[in-house]
Amino acid sequence: MDCVYFGFTLDMDSSSGDAYKVEAYVLEEIFSEWGDPPSMSEVDKNANSATTSKETPCFSTSMNAEGTKPEVSTNSTIGNVSSATTSIDTPSTSTATNDDEPEQEAYTTSSTRRGGAEESKDDDQCLSPLERFRPGYLWVTDLTRQNWCEQQLYYSFTIPTIAEENPVMTAGTDYHLARELATHDIVKVDVQSSEDIWAVKMLNLHSAVCTFLHGGIVAREVPVFGAPFKEDILIVGLIDELRFDPSNYTIDLIELKTRLSSTMPSRSQRKQHNFQVSVYKTLFDDLVQGKVSKQFMASTLKINLHKELGDSIRGHAEKQFVVIKSLNDLMDIIFHKIQTLTCISQVFIEYVHQESKQTIGHMEVEYDAVKVSDLYKKYVKFWRGNRRADGVDIEDAWKCQRCDFNSICEWRKKKSAECEQRNKKNAKIK
Ligand code: SF4
Repeated sequence: MDCVYFGFTLDMDSSSGDAYKVEAYVLEEIFSEWGDPPSMSEVDKNANSATTSKETPCFSTSMNAEGTKPEVSTNSTIGNVSSATTSIDTPSTSTATNDDEPEQEAYTTSSTRRGGAEESKDDDQCLSPLERFRPGYLWVTDLTRQNWCEQQLYYSFTIPTIAEENPVMTAGTDYHLARELATHDIVKVDVQSSEDIWAVKMLNLHSAVCTFLHGGIVAREVPVFGAPFKEDILIVGLIDELRFDPSNYTIDLIELKTRLSSTMPSRSQRKQHNFQVSVYKTLFDDLVQGKVSKQFMASTLKINLHKELGDSIRGHAEKQFVVIKSLNDLMDIIFHKIQTLTCISQVFIEYVHQESKQTIGHMEVEYDAVKVSDLYKKYVKFWRGNRRADGVDIEDAWKCQRCDFNSICEWRKKKSAECEQRNKKNAKIK
C-alpha cells in the first residue's frame, strides 16, 4: 500500500506557515531521537540582542490566537524533501538566519514580523511557551526532549545555536527509511493548504488502519494525534511500527532506536524512551476509543474542516477507496474505522547498532497510565506558562557535562551553589 507523502506546490500564503511546520513535524518525528540523548550543537553563548530579548522567561496562562500560528515569510524554497530534512535535523538549535530554516522562523524572528523588537518583546511577555515556541500544538518529540532536561529544551528555543550535521541521526534516518520502504511505497502528493497537509496525515493513518483491516500485519510510520489526559493540548506523533496479530486480535507498538554504541542505553535514556512510547500508546488508544474530537483539532489547528481538499489529495484518497471532499469527510471515515481496531496490547523498544545493523536488545515497556499522566500534566504546566523550566535532578547532573548550555545554565549555577552551601554546613558540623 502506498504511503502518502508530501510533494510541494508553492502557492504559499500565510497559512502555509502552518503547513511548513507540519512538514517539519513529520520529518522531525521520522528523523530524530535515535538512541543517543539529545545533544545540542555548538552554542553561541554570547547571544546577540535579537535573542537576548527572548531569554527572559515569559510565563503566562493567557491564550492568544495569533500566537498559535508561526508566521513564515518564505514562499519559495520548500521544494524538496532533502533540503527540508537537513534544516530540521536539529530543529531547535539552529542559528541560521536564512528564512529557509523553519525552526528559526518559529523561534527567533517574530520581532521583525511584528514590527519591531520592543513590540515583539512585549508580546512575548504575554505568551506561554506553547504559544511562543510552537504553533498551538506539540509534537511527541517536544515532550521527550523535555523529559531529558526541560531547562535545556527552553534554552534550545531561546538561545541561538549552530546546526551541525549529526552523523548519528543521518544514519538513523537511512535505517528508518529503509524499514519504512519495506512495508510501503512513498508517493508524493501536492498540497496547497493546511487542510491538505492534515489530510495527508489522515490518509497515512487511514492506510495503516486499512492494512490491518485487510489482513496486513505490519504498518510503519503511523501518524497519531489527540489531546491526552483531558488536557486540551493537541499532541502529534509518529509511531515507528505497529504489528497486528489477527488470531489474537492484538496490536503491539514497536519503537526503533538506532545507537552508535552496541550497548543498551542508560537509565535516563530508557526513561525518556519509555515516556515517548507511552505517549504514543495513549494517543493511539484514545483514537481507538473515540476520544479525539474533529472540532477540537480544527479549532487548535485553525483549519476549516469543510474546505474542499486539493485534487491531488482527493485522487490519492480514491486510491485508498475513499471518496471525500473535505477533511471532515476523511476524518469521519478514519475515526469510524480506527474504532473497529483494538487498543495497543504491548509496547516494545528495539535497539539496533547503527554500524552493524544488529539488534542490541528489545525492551518491553510497562505502560503505567498514572505515571505517564502525572508526568504529562507536569510538563503541560510548563507549556501553559504555569511554572518555570526545571533543570535536571542531582542524580542526573552528569547530563550537564555534555550539554551545550552548561556554561550559562542558571539552574546548574543554582544547584551548585546549594551544594556548596550544604558542604560548608556539613563541614561545620564535623
Ligand atoms: Fe539542563 Fe544541565 Fe544543560 Fe542546565 S546544564 S540545561 S540543567 S542539562
